[in-house]
Amino acid sequence: MTRVPRIPFGSSATLADAVDRTDVCTAFSVVGAASTPASRLLAASGLALGPALGGVAAWAVALRALRDRAFSGRLQPVSRRDEGAAVGAGIAPARDKRGAVSLVGAGPGCADLITLRGVRRLQEADVIYFDRLVDPALLDLARPDASRVFVGKAPGLRAWPQARINRLLVASAQAGKRVVRLKCGDPSVFGRAAEEIDALAEAGFAVEIVPGVTAASAAAAEVGRPLTDRNAGRTLVLASGHPAADAAPIDWSALARLDATLAIYMGVARAADTAQALIAGGADPCARVDIVERAGAFNSRRLSSPLHALADTIARESVRNPAILLVSPTAHPERRQRGARTCRAPASRLASVEFL
Ligand code: SAH
Repeated sequence: MTRVPRIPFGSSATLADAVDRTDVCTAFSVVGAASTPASRLLAASGLALGPALGGVAAWAVALRALRDRAFSGRLQPVSRRDEGAAVGAGIAPARDKRGAVSLVGAGPGCADLITLRGVRRLQEADVIYFDRLVDPALLDLARPDASRVFVGKAPGLRAWPQARINRLLVASAQAGKRVVRLKCGDPSVFGRAAEEIDALAEAGFAVEIVPGVTAASAAAAEVGRPLTDRNAGRTLVLASGHPAADAAPIDWSALARLDATLAIYMGVARAADTAQALIAGGADPCARVDIVERAGAFNSRRLSSPLHALADTIARESVRNPAILLVSPTAHPERRQRGARTCRAPASRLASVEFL
């Protein structure tokens, strides 16, 4: 905290002091008659302009670069000099001879839904390993000399083996690089983060996770409905509709009994089986399912269907990945009644589909 030395009351001495936060600097001039209030003012501003403010200002520069890119197509990548300033201001970790790895959430496929911390890690990175569903515009935020390596699954081709990705991450960290593993959505949600963290831990590297906006959140925002509701739907389940081959099958009937909102990732291909299993487990066949394609992107698409007609809707509307299914809570009586007004008997197999 900055202090103003005491000067005698009534003195005509003038003392100047400043709170310096790199890009933001506040100066004060104090005469003896006002030394006590001025001292408080300076101390307060020292607190208000906390040590991180230089970092915030550096952020403003980075955001300006993003804004410029959005509105003029130009990009001003952050240079090594800016990176040095960020390290000096204490907002970026100093370069370590042993390298560092961050698993960064890119958000749901549109650049402006990444976090500021995620942008910062991209700007610091020497090498970025990125997936298919990541918005390529984010790669423009990295330094021009950073390597950008696609490790996703290109349409029609086989996916990169996870073991190979793990080896690359470890090798880059061992070479002293700052590594960003850029994953769509949140890296902790169905992102195979555990394998990468384990491989890096085995090689002696701690991994930083920078969270991101997961598809369920982006889809709820598209639909304009919350994922939870304190009256109906106090539980939220994130489920994979396509469990790994060696994993135990999902107990859909247990989930049906939870009266939860179910966010089903990778659920399009097996929607028929999933809906059937949920209904067999006691879910309301008329429960509303929101299907959101490319949530968060400019070309997103929303459909809704009663649960019993989900597979028909997906087939008829040619729903394509990436898409997520949000099954509304099914057991609340009020919701059941509301659903009953728009849902025909499942036995008729005639879906009453609402388009939003
Ligand atoms: N880590 C990601 C999920 C990866 S699994 C996250 O947190 O969102 C991949 C699945 O996520 C896709 O098959 C799809 O079901 C869902 N998904 C990812 N991005 C999506 C988007 N923009 N819109 C809808 N679903 C999406």
